[in-house]
Amino acid sequence: MILHLKDTISNEKAQLIAKQYNGFLLKSGEKNVLITEALLKEVPQDIEAFVDEFWVFDNDIQLASKKYRSDKREVKIGNVTIGGQQNATLLMGGPCSVESEEQIRSAAELLVGLGLTTLRGGCYKPRTSPYSFQGMGLEGLKLLVKMREEYGLSVITEARDATHIHEIIEHSDVIQVGAKAMYDQGILRACAKTQKPVLIKRGFGTTLKEFVQAAEFVLSGGNENVILCERGLRTFETNTRFTLDLCGVAWLQEHTNLPIVLDPSHAMGYAYGVPVLSRACVAMGIDGLLIETHPNPKVAKSDASQQLNYDEFKQLVESLRPVAASVGYSMI
Ligand code: PEP
Ligand code: MN
Repeated sequence: MILHLKDTISNEKAQLIAKQYNGFLLKSGEKNVLITEALLKEVPQDIEAFVDEFWVFDNDIQLASKKYRSDKREVKIGNVTIGGQQNATLLMGGPCSVESEEQIRSAAELLVGLGLTTLRGGCYKPRTSPYSFQGMGLEGLKLLVKMREEYGLSVITEARDATHIHEIIEHSDVIQVGAKAMYDQGILRACAKTQKPVLIKRGFGTTLKEFVQAAEFVLSGGNENVILCERGLRTFETNTRFTLDLCGVAWLQEHTNLPIVLDPSHAMGYAYGVPVLSRACVAMGIDGLLIETHPNPKVAKSDASQQLNYDEFKQLVESLRPVAASVGYSMI
């Protein structure tokens, strides 16, 4: 249950009530918001006098639910805003991994040349094999910071585990919680304590409910700037790397109030499919697209087969604008 407490009650009283019901207390704007376990169906009599409004749920999707807020939440990333009534699809581009200053600078210049604002690049890579490139770590993060300072770009990079989450929170503009990391409570709880935007990727074996529950950890801990990212599921099919769950996206649009980003690069796994899939994604009226691009994909240290070269990336961006416009969106 979510309860909006009356403005007249003191913070101390609100905290006492929260403790009594094992709930989470948030400040949302001026409101004291109390979230209890979902199965509570009636406002307990002893606190009725302190409650303005309440919402009842039949499962643990509460703060993220359209039942609670029918309008889509807005999230500000640098100078741009997604979600809400913006009807804007934010194109976040860059390499899978930050590999060198020269490489990440070329990506930054590519974005600036196209009028884009948000640079991606992994520094702590969650690789399947310990023998693969693991990322540049803090050194890579500092290169992203340098790109922000020199080009005015926002940067998004992923947390692999809780050991470096505070570095990522400090240095990035958007914290990416990877598909393998989205169950990591240390990461989610740390993300709840910042106000920076958090982009949570859906695990490849994660149900929609579990996915949104991960978002609830961040929302209920006090950070309302949460973005969901669909990046493909593991199915019986092996010709593509994963299977992009567009049905799931339609479900999230219908039932949740969070901005939604799609990542066709990881879903497809092969560059040839990324442009067509991207157009399909944008045609759904989404809040963002995450695309991997590399100056020379053949020699990329991670995800070589799916990264677009810069010519392909430029062509993709141009081809997306009319698709976005056809559903009343703009590419930003
Ligand atoms: C990535 O964005 O490079 C990445 C590793 O993504 P995912 O967590 O979706 O596999
Ligand atoms: Mn990648």
